[in-house]
Amino acid sequence: MKLFDNTEVAFALKTDSQLERAYFLFKMIQNQPMVRIGSAVTNFALKAHLPIEGLIRATVFDHFCGGVTEDDCMPIIDNMHNNGNVHSVLDYSVEGKDQEISFDGALEKILKIINFCEEKKSIPFAVFKPSGFGRFALYEKVTEGKTLTEIEQKEWNRIEGRFHKVCKVAVQKDVPLLIDAEESWMQKAADDLIEELMETYNKEKAIVFNTLQMYRHDRMDYLKELHQKAQEKGFHIGMKVVRGAYMEKERERAEEKGYPSPICKDKDATDINYDAAVKYLMEHPKMALFAGTHNEESSYLVMDLAKELGIKENDKNLWFGQLFGMSDHISYNLASKGYNVAKYLPFGPVRDVMPYLIRRAEENTSVAGQTSRELNLLKIERKRRKL
Ligand SMILES: Cc1cc2nc3c(=O)[nH]c(=O)nc-3n(C[C@H](O)[C@H](O)[C@H](O)COP(=O)(O)OP(=O)(O)OC[C@H]3O[C@@H](n4cnc5c(N)ncnc54)[C@H](O)[C@@H]3O)c2cc1C
Repeated sequence: MKLFDNTEVAFALKTDSQLERAYFLFKMIQNQPMVRIGSAVTNFALKAHLPIEGLIRATVFDHFCGGVTEDDCMPIIDNMHNNGNVHSVLDYSVEGKDQEISFDGALEKILKIINFCEEKKSIPFAVFKPSGFGRFALYEKVTEGKTLTEIEQKEWNRIEGRFHKVCKVAVQKDVPLLIDAEESWMQKAADDLIEELMETYNKEKAIVFNTLQMYRHDRMDYLKELHQKAQEKGFHIGMKVVRGAYMEKERERAEEKGYPSPICKDKDATDINYDAAVKYLMEHPKMALFAGTHNEESSYLVMDLAKELGIKENDKNLWFGQLFGMSDHISYNLASKGYNVAKYLPFGPVRDVMPYLIRRAEENTSVAGQTSRELNLLKIERKRRKL
């Protein structure tokens, strides 16, 4: 039996009723038209203030999220850590806000989470999204190299201030910080800023981590250029490596606006690109890797490379990451072999995490190919438990 086929380890933390709920949920979201219609109806119902939050909570929310507040998440974090040796990354998943008060609120949340990380071994990283700290449209304008108005410049300075603030505190408390990647048309502004942060704060080790989306065909070149600069200036590189979550949006926009798509030509090309990036990061010194993936082959590859390169399972510069509610067969089986594993544990008010939940439902339809695997594993485990 291959490591990830062990469903007993994978679902050890799930009670029978939790297992049944997961099975029911994945069966439901297997149906793509239903996910499309369900997402539209849910968005409408939330806007119309219909009382559907209870229903969302009982289904998708509780499966993919830790709760509404960070305190709600604590029992889940402790359970995963004490009983499965799996860590958590508390992910404040409120998206799509564009007011200064929300950005300052997000900053306060992240600072609070950094304090938790300092106190609790079970929460090894803090994480945030660039668009959580500032207006998406402003990142877009900076990415396009357009001149900012005086007011916009001040707004941008505030964004930079928020990034520096979390990094300073993260260094003081020795807590590494993951920064998510978003749509390509705003990402360069974030990348340039994060590069500056790595230069300032990653002198001794990787505290600041950027994210590479390997569905973008330009990311290997980007990584090599960054490596060159890191060598010249003497800083460490921290990288979360993912395939990328906005493929359809990226392709649609490129077609609509008539520029070449930034996405690899097919899935194979993305897979090759992903594997090349993790290999590059593992082979070079002064680099830390957080492999964020639900892909079994890539996860086996990272394990094989670690063995080959003499990197220990619990090396502090090598982490695996999955999302809460997905691919437990990878997370718990890796952790059972002593690898560092962390699950992103989203939290926030139900209506504010809807964009996140819809992305999860969409990537779990049968078309995206994940559900059949999750369902299959759940079926095997139900059978093993004789449910
Ligand atoms: C811990 C963690 C952190 C994450 N952080 C981020 C983040 O910061 N930013 C972000 O964008 N995403 C992030 N993600 C989401 C991640 O990008 C998706 O989970 C990922 O796309 C699913 O890919 P996979 O590696 O699990 O493997 P698979 O399921 O094998 O791959 C699916 C992915 O392959 C790519 N793909 C599929 N079909 C094609 C095609 N025809 N052509 C080209 N490429 C294709 C797409 O990216 C698709 O999502 C994160 C995921 C995890 C687990």
